[in-house]
Amino acid sequence: MQASAGSTSNQSNIINVKNYRLGAEYYGGKWVKHLYIFNTDTDFCYNYTFQPNKKNYFVCFKCKKINKKRTVSATIASNENGEKYVQLNENEHVCERQKFELKTIIYEPDFKLDTVKVRGKEIQHLFVSDSNDKTLYYIYTLISGAKSYRCNNCQNIHNIHVRAYLLIDENGKQCCVLNAQKHKCRPQKL
Ligand SMILES: [Zn+2]
Ligand SMILES: [Zn+2]
Repeated sequence: MQASAGSTSNQSNIINVKNYRLGAEYYGGKWVKHLYIFNTDTDFCYNYTFQPNKKNYFVCFKCKKINKKRTVSATIASNENGEKYVQLNENEHVCERQKFELKTIIYEPDFKLDTVKVRGKEIQHLFVSDSNDKTLYYIYTLISGAKSYRCNNCQNIHNIHVRAYLLIDENGKQCCVLNAQKHKCRPQKL
């Protein structure tokens, strides 16, 4: 759903829960939460950046870049059934939609950590459940000296880089960021 052009209503526009996703982008040395809002085309989106001054509040910085005084914002709220939806303010975008490259954020129990000993060496694993079948997991291994995890199967067999990172979100909760590259390997039973 889109804001109707020329609307004079002060009511915020409520858009369907299916039309947005949360993600994260690495900027200025840290991970910043983003909200991506789609039209019917899920390849392109408006990209809102999380603002810590208000709860669940995101602003489009592409619009800000074009016009400093223009704030196009989105807030995530919940209805009485606990279902989440996004509320937009009345300002329409002056920016163009951008190509959507998702970095997904997931929370426990959709990922878990484990340390195994292989020949006396400790190896840290990150298990990420398959979104279609939660009994299956993709296995990531901590890259030594780095803060990111990689899928060795995808790297070694398919030569693609599937990475994951851990970070603490704005509520102090640990979460896991998955890069946009999809696995070519098969998830496994643990
Ligand atoms: Zn915009
Ligand atoms: Zn993989």
